[in-house]
Amino acid sequence: MKPAPFKYIAAESLEHALAVKAEYGDEARFLAGGQSLVPAMNFRLAQPAVLIDVNPIEALSSIGRVNGHALRIGALTRYRMLERDAAIAGEIPLIAEALPHIAHPQVRNRGTIGGNLSHADPASELPAIVVALEGRLRAQSARGERWIVASDFFLGPLTTALADDEMLTEVELPLQPARSGSCFMEVARRKGDFALLGIAVVVAVDEAGVCRRVRAALCGGGETPVDVSAAAAVLIGRQDREAAVTDAAAAVRQAVDPPGNMHADPGYQRHLAGVLAKRALAAALERACHG
Ligand SMILES: Cc1cc2nc3c(=O)[nH]c(=O)nc-3n(C[C@H](O)[C@H](O)[C@H](O)COP(=O)(O)OP(=O)(O)OC[C@H]3O[C@@H](n4cnc5c(N)ncnc54)[C@H](O)[C@@H]3O)c2cc1C
Repeated sequence: MKPAPFKYIAAESLEHALAVKAEYGDEARFLAGGQSLVPAMNFRLAQPAVLIDVNPIEALSSIGRVNGHALRIGALTRYRMLERDAAIAGEIPLIAEALPHIAHPQVRNRGTIGGNLSHADPASELPAIVVALEGRLRAQSARGERWIVASDFFLGPLTTALADDEMLTEVELPLQPARSGSCFMEVARRKGDFALLGIAVVVAVDEAGVCRRVRAALCGGGETPVDVSAAAAVLIGRQDREAAVTDAAAAVRQAVDPPGNMHADPGYQRHLAGVLAKRALAAALERACHG
């Protein structure tokens, strides 16, 4: 199918993009990688009157550091750039581990972190990852800017906390401290498909290898990424690592109330939550203890 007619505006700068968005509000959409928006337009599920192409804004395609404690990733940074970046692989390995699960190389060549998070597909990997990592997202408009913590950003399927005139311009992710470990796992019918369920886990241990901090979030387990850190906290302070992992995984399984989808009913998704939590928590602890 062909999209409904729309006005195309190539942004000359961030200020220009924000001014156009302020003018047209929810009639206008930003065009980033186009990997979700263009198919939706072709099926006429989305019919924006105006497309603001942000691809010319080179400054939005960047990976930088803030005072050695966080990475800042520009919204237009493509998956492929994240996947191949040595700093990401070394400092936030959770992202490098998850990226190959997102779609196919062709999609990853175009798709962007900002487009992915703004699209807010609850089955998508990156929203769960930024929630697990306790990232924050920078929203800019002609009125000014604000930072939104990841857990407040996702309001529902394809719905975020961004106002009609705001653009997501940057994602800030804290670097993991020493003796941290992370793991991403998912089950999908075929490689590159959206997952039936996935889990992102980050842990930190003390000198004795005892878990002192755990964060965990699911993709595909609810209407937004599902933060299951409170359930996984069963691990904290436990010396009996194997039993603690089993208990934490059981707590995660208990805590979730997945909606089911066309490939997995809620009971199967809940089962996957327990199985994946057990494997991912064990792997993350192992990595935290042994680098
Ligand atoms: C075959 C296929 C398989 C896929 N498999 C997966 C998968 O396994 N996992 C997964 O997570 N995704 C998957 N996707 C989706 C893909 O990740 C998309 O690229 C992504 O969801 C959107 O990113 P984008 O940069 O292409 O954004 P676009 O499609 O350009 O935009 C998506 C939405 O976000 C808005 N937007 C874009 N940038 C901004 C911004 N900076 N600020 C505010 N709003 C913005 C747009 O206006 C639009 O509403 C798949 C896509 C395809 C085609």
